[in-house]
Amino acid sequence: MAITLLAVSKTRPARDVLTAALAGQRDFGENYAQEGVDKILVLRALAQQGMLPENASLIWHFIGPLQGNKTRLVAEHFDWAHSIERLKIAERLSAQRPARLPPLQVCVQVNVSGEASKSGCAPEEALDLCLAVASLPRLKLRGLMCIPAPARDFAAQCRLFSQLRQRFMEIKTRCPELDTLSMGMSGDLEAAVQSGGTLVRIGSAIFGRRTNDIDASTGVGNNS
Ligand SMILES: *Cc1c(COP(=O)(O)O)cnc(C)c1O
Repeated sequence: MAITLLAVSKTRPARDVLTAALAGQRDFGENYAQEGVDKILVLRALAQQGMLPENASLIWHFIGPLQGNKTRLVAEHFDWAHSIERLKIAERLSAQRPARLPPLQVCVQVNVSGEASKSGCAPEEALDLCLAVASLPRLKLRGLMCIPAPARDFAAQCRLFSQLRQRFMEIKTRCPELDTLSMGMSGDLEAAVQSGGTLVRIGSAIFGRRTNDIDASTGVGNNS
């Protein structure tokens, strides 16, 4: 089974994206809508100037917390959004997706860590949210995503990821088109792959440690 490598370029300058793209990387992930759009436009301009091979079109994934006032930027510029946790946000994305673009590819974010995390819908709500999202005209539901709270060890990481995989298989009986399990970051990608993940989101292990680091689960920087 092929695994998609998503290079998480948040906080990195556009020239780092260019370097990775020239090395053959295609999928890039961003957490902040405006920062992502700025890079998308720079990379598109570079492609038009012939700085990228002609067949090297990049695929942009929005993976950060999605607020109502940011949906338009995401709908108009990104190819994917992984962090759908409420129907209201999905409806806005569908309404705002321009007709000239293909449907926005989306994942529903599920909270597999209970109290320890605030992002994602509750696991028992995931099926209903997926069914509702799948019926929106300008979105294409592709799968589930999670950002587990840090786990004690490899076995504990696998347990959390396996929960999401199990949920995914259940929902897939109702939504057979699902093909994406977005799980695994630099610190837990081995557990995610072992547990059936199909897309890993890797930032620091590709680009190096971020200086102004951001908590992936809350989107809040610790600035230390
Ligand atoms: C930052 C981030 C990543 C990448 O994190 P690393 O630990 O640097 O690999 C992956 N997913 C999400 C949602 C993120 O916010």
